[in-house]
Amino acid sequence: MGQQELESYFHTLDRSFFIDNDMKKYADLDKPLPIGFGQTISQPSLVLEMKRLLSPEKDSKVLEIGTGSGFQTAILAKMSGKVFTVERIEELMGKAKKRLEALNFSNICYKVGDGSKGWQEHAPYDRIMVTAAARVLPDELVNQLAAGGRMVIPVGPQYLQELKLITKTDDNDINIESIGMVRFVELKGQYGW
Ligand code: SAM
Repeated sequence: MGQQELESYFHTLDRSFFIDNDMKKYADLDKPLPIGFGQTISQPSLVLEMKRLLSPEKDSKVLEIGTGSGFQTAILAKMSGKVFTVERIEELMGKAKKRLEALNFSNICYKVGDGSKGWQEHAPYDRIMVTAAARVLPDELVNQLAAGGRMVIPVGPQYLQELKLITKTDDNDINIESIGMVRFVELKGQYGW
């Protein structure tokens, strides 16, 4: 899917469908919004920017850590071959899965649990998207990234992080690029808080 096609899909995706509380009426705002359990649905412009950085291809195998509402999962699933998504809060995953199934996605595998160390069973992944803030870059996620792969992850202190683009060359060398400052909810687990 090209950038233009992605943007048109993005604009047809009704964000309010992914919100089931009284924040629904604010779905059109370019802001993160609460989805319960102290978590948020990400800001649309940031979701789009992270997708641009990740650049999945139509046959990419993608690992997403932090399913949340499922909004970003829908975009990843539309753009790539298969998405493995991990969420630690069972209730959020239950709702996200129902929404994504209602949208007829059949290329998503779901796991409830701690994704801070990835999902080893299905590794390696061509792309890894982390939607919660890590304290440090998790070694396991770097190891689970395929040669030639890309990972987007916010890393840094609890209230402000650097969005990082990690690329692995075909020779397995790692490059780390800082994209800009962002603010995400905490990644829980060994590499989080
Ligand atoms: N992109 C999502 C969306 O569009 O709705 C929002 C994701 S929200 C900013 C971050 C999510 O990461 C939360 O749902 C949180 O529960 C989850 N999370 C935090 N730490 C996690 C971990 N160690 N493993 C799996 N999920 C985690």
